[in-house]
Amino acid sequence: MPDSSLYRGRFAPSPTGPLHLGSLIAALASYLEARQHGGQWLVRMEDLDPPREQAGAADSILQSLRDHALHWDGEVMFQSERSAAYEQALTQLQASGLLFPCQCSRQQLGPGGLHHGCCEIRGKAATALRVAVPGGAHVSFDDALQGTQDCDLYATAGDFVVRRKDGLFAYQLAVVVDDAEQGISHIVRGADLMDSTPRQFWLQQQLGYSTPSYKHLPVITHADGQKLSKQSFAPALRSEQASGNLRQALSFLQQPPPPASLDTPAALLNWAQAHWSPTALPAVTAIPEAH
Ligand code: GLU
Repeated sequence: MPDSSLYRGRFAPSPTGPLHLGSLIAALASYLEARQHGGQWLVRMEDLDPPREQAGAADSILQSLRDHALHWDGEVMFQSERSAAYEQALTQLQASGLLFPCQCSRQQLGPGGLHHGCCEIRGKAATALRVAVPGGAHVSFDDALQGTQDCDLYATAGDFVVRRKDGLFAYQLAVVVDDAEQGISHIVRGADLMDSTPRQFWLQQQLGYSTPSYKHLPVITHADGQKLSKQSFAPALRSEQASGNLRQALSFLQQPPPPASLDTPAALLNWAQAHWSPTALPAVTAIPEAH
């Protein structure tokens, strides 16, 4: 059995709605990769944006995971309980001279939405906090599925927001602080998050954290190319169909089909873990759902 201290994966849903096929695919792939490495698999509830959340969604996601036999290690981490850690990271960025307040509106930033350089603070208008990204800032990483990614962070992200004008901590900050706190070594998630990764790399470096390895899976889209999400009315998964849902997710990931005789989620997952084939994963960023 490989050393589990070397592999720690996670699934980090936002409770904006119930689990749907797109999120099950990310949960399943991150689970199977972790288990096949003899590693741990953690769940973190990314409930740091109350206006976008749906009442009851966090509980419903956790129940769906259980119903699909996706059992996690340890306690679920809730981002809503992590403000002190995010404040501390902001203090650290401040001490390094990387943090500045900004009152710019979307209109002031223009169509590209990029921000470069400090702002002048006037009056009491709401203030966001941005982390400074200097000219020449560049991030390059080897995605374990999608290959080498090169990013001119200055040109594509600019100075980015780490605490929003409404006072909420930004996803980019929270995810980096929590991946470090939970000791995550391997991140397996949807390719819709791939353009966030360079900002996360950058923050990890500025905060002195180590960088996990990344694997970005194709996301499942509707026929018109739109990602399956709550906003696009992706149907909630039904627990009575958990085995069928798992088979569908495995097929999307181009994994070998489990024998028809296996009919419980736990039996399917055991089989899928033993036959998990990372080289069969499709190295593309989006695939339309099959009908
Ligand atoms: N909470 C994010 C989402 O549901 C995922 C964050 C991540 O995996 O890094 O889109």
